[in-house]
Amino acid sequence: MSQIAFIGLGNMGSGMAACQVRAGHSVHAFDLSAAALEKAKQAGCEPARSVADAVRECDLVITMLPAGPQVREVYANEIIPNARAGTLMIDCSTIDVESARAVAALVTQHGFEFADAPVSGGVAGAEAGSLAFMVGCEVGQFSQIESALEPMARAIIRAGDHGAGQAAKICNNMLLGISMIGTCEAFALAEKLGLAPDRFFEIASKSSGQCWSLTSYAPWPGLVESAPANRNYEGGFATAMMLKDLKLAQDAAAKSGATTPLGAQAEAMYALFDRLCGGGRDFSSILQLLRGQLS
Ligand code: NAD
Repeated sequence: MSQIAFIGLGNMGSGMAACQVRAGHSVHAFDLSAAALEKAKQAGCEPARSVADAVRECDLVITMLPAGPQVREVYANEIIPNARAGTLMIDCSTIDVESARAVAALVTQHGFEFADAPVSGGVAGAEAGSLAFMVGCEVGQFSQIESALEPMARAIIRAGDHGAGQAAKICNNMLLGISMIGTCEAFALAEKLGLAPDRFFEIASKSSGQCWSLTSYAPWPGLVESAPANRNYEGGFATAMMLKDLKLAQDAAAKSGATTPLGAQAEAMYALFDRLCGGGRDFSSILQLLRGQLS
């Protein structure tokens, strides 16, 4: 049994911490939100009074925080000064590659081991323990990191050295944002042409337009049972989160000199949609912008 400090118990972290409890580990949990802390307690975690309190007696620290600034701050000021020697630290948040590398450098300078391990699979995957982890770490540390993530995972893939996990995550999500907009444009055009959405769906699913955004996450209601389109776009992967990841991708493209015009267009479209409708609904609801049916 490991002693795990779990920091950040929001939509994703709450389910992930619960998976570690179910795997028989002792989870010392902390979040700034009292409600999140209470939910973690209900799931069997030991609520801590602070990050310092959570990490002090642990051999593994997992963080699931909103973005780069929080991750930098929490590691520099709270985790590193209070962790005991030999603690393994894994950040599962989605953050910019630069922050991930800076935190890795700081953690390793202080003699600890670190991995950036962002995830794919959403809230349902976090609750079910079926996330895909993209790991940036030294080769020799991967098997130890794999064991630590295993209770929360369906797939754990090493992307490369520190920062490579975040690089894989933002490239994947840029592709996802672009493919979702493409899928929605195709539905909007099909509608204008008088083609029934279910006919288009069946044909494109078996033709060269097939992609995950269509067959696993169709933005048109009534086609894929588990898709947020069937729940009025509630839950799922929020537009604001997609926008955040597209911004990270564009920042990374600008810094590295990569040419990503469709990524830039996807960011502009999600920024417009976020301004018009708020960022709360699932990102597949951008279909309604393209149909001219905002509500
Ligand atoms: P969230 O906002 O629901 O949770 C973040 C939690 O961190 C909040 O409960 C907040 O109170 C807590 N927090 C912030 N600063 C803190 C601090 N200093 N100390 C302790 N707790 C602090 O966000 P989420 O949806 O759980 O996402 C977390 C991360 O996972 C993000 O980086 C996101 O991009 C990524 N992600 C989210 C999804 C998704 O579908 N929601 C999918 C994949 C990846």
